[in-house]
Amino acid sequence: MVLAIIGLILFLVLIILAIRVGLNKSESEQEEIQNPIIHASGIYSIVRRSPRDGLLKIRPGKEELRKYLSSLNEDIGKFLLSEKDKELILNQWEQSMANSLEVIEQGDNEGVEFYYYDFFPEDCPECKKFLNKGQFVTREEIFKFPDIIPPFHLGCTTCIRPHHGKEKLTDTTESGMLPFFKGEELPPLPDWKTTIKINALWGTSA
Ligand SMILES: [Zn+2]
Repeated sequence: MVLAIIGLILFLVLIILAIRVGLNKSESEQEEIQNPIIHASGIYSIVRRSPRDGLLKIRPGKEELRKYLSSLNEDIGKFLLSEKDKELILNQWEQSMANSLEVIEQGDNEGVEFYYYDFFPEDCPECKKFLNKGQFVTREEIFKFPDIIPPFHLGCTTCIRPHHGKEKLTDTTESGMLPFFKGEELPPLPDWKTTIKINALWGTSA
């Protein structure tokens, strides 16, 4: 009798577990349906969702940047920062964030799988310690790690460009096409607080 009751309880527990697993499954199926922009191309099958929200979540907001800049007197090269310089740095940060996101959103419309790093309008001395011009990242890596979207720090001139497969990277890059990722883990990147004064000559056109 006791055995029969234990057996019955076990049976009920199993049924409840089975129902829960079923529910979870249909929930995740629903999620997939709600996210219909799944693009399969070649060996990659990537969810092409704009990295905008993910990026804004991990990067400091304008107020935090402003507050940090107000505490600074000079950049990492000991160049004095005026109020105007700080405003320029802030504007350039926002512009660069917008540019990067635009490039990726545009690339998603065109089915771009690879993006490579470039510096514009001049090399970024801080980023040069971490990455080379022409190193590439995949759309999937951007999806997994929005951290790899420039700008990486205040006054950063790194930008991201789509690789359609036609660009002659040897013309624009020093290293040809090398992957930025060595493995699965996010490679080190500059600290956003590293501040580099923007050259007033290019600040307006960046
Ligand atoms: Zn930089």
